[in-house]
Amino acid sequence: MTAIILDGRAIAVQIKNEISNDVATFIKSGGAVPKLAAVLVGDDAASKVYVKSKSRECQRVGIDSEVHLLSGDTSQQQLLDLVTKLNDDATVNGILVQLPLPKQIDETCILDAVHPMKDVDAFHAENVGLISQGRPRFLSCTPHGILQMLHRSQIEVAGKEVVVVGRSDIVGKPIAMMLAQRDSSLGPTAANGTVTICHSRTRDLAEVTRRGDILIAAIGRPKFITADMVKDGVVVVDVGINRVDERLVGDVDFESVKEKASFITPVPGGVGPLTVTMVLYNTLTAAKLARVS
Ligand code: NDP
Repeated sequence: MTAIILDGRAIAVQIKNEISNDVATFIKSGGAVPKLAAVLVGDDAASKVYVKSKSRECQRVGIDSEVHLLSGDTSQQQLLDLVTKLNDDATVNGILVQLPLPKQIDETCILDAVHPMKDVDAFHAENVGLISQGRPRFLSCTPHGILQMLHRSQIEVAGKEVVVVGRSDIVGKPIAMMLAQRDSSLGPTAANGTVTICHSRTRDLAEVTRRGDILIAAIGRPKFITADMVKDGVVVVDVGINRVDERLVGDVDFESVKEKASFITPVPGGVGPLTVTMVLYNTLTAAKLARVS
């Protein structure tokens, strides 16, 4: 079997067209142009690329964006002051603080300071709590992208064994939480998975990953998931983005695993484009919520 490759770029274009239409309808009905404020501290090259691409994509769908560039020696208080200013600015609907932050800044403290109604990354404890209770305000962007990709590729989650490798607050935990719910914004077939979460202390990882009908790898280790770790016909979602010899590779050994899988996401061009797209989706949601409140 050779897997069908799930084209994240094509699905992202589809969703961005829908968002673009929704933004136009929102503005036509009297809503103000939604706006995303991105905050970047320091000059990490990868972070700069992410922030730039988020601004560019905003523009494509009719969302305004502003980027706040702060030097690497910014203090925690200076960053908190900026977040407070953006919280108070009624023209800003979404606030995105690009991670990682420099060592002198407490990430949790900053993420907690972002107003929950403007928390388009869905990192705030209030939004994480709402996701875990199955009544989300915003869905975390990468997990939501994965949900959309599976749904739009007619891959059902309900009743399947889903194995998630990685338990980060950004990917592993929220995707596990979302896929285990009774229902989802895309209906019950996009939820109701039997979910197992693995991490660096999991015993006999390969034995667990081989149980997965759907395997989600969010580890941050190049080509870590090999063919012997998956079962025949598995659906593989590779979240990893690793730079190796100037090339981007995922957490999955794509060439060998694609021979056993039924579907697989590539890196680049898989989950990545959807993550950015769901930031746009959440910014529009935030604008709609601000209008009714
Ligand atoms: P983290 O480093 O926060 O988490 C990695 C997880 O992998 C941890 O839970 C860790 O376990 C687990 N892990 C590490 N080594 C092993 C191992 N040997 N066996 C089993 N589990 C292991 O990473 P993120 O979740 O933030 O990101 C994961 C990857 O996804 C990265 O490559 C990142 O760049 C990429 N990414 C891609 C996005 C996209 O849009 N495509 C968005 C966000 C991230 P433990 O908890 O025990 O340490």
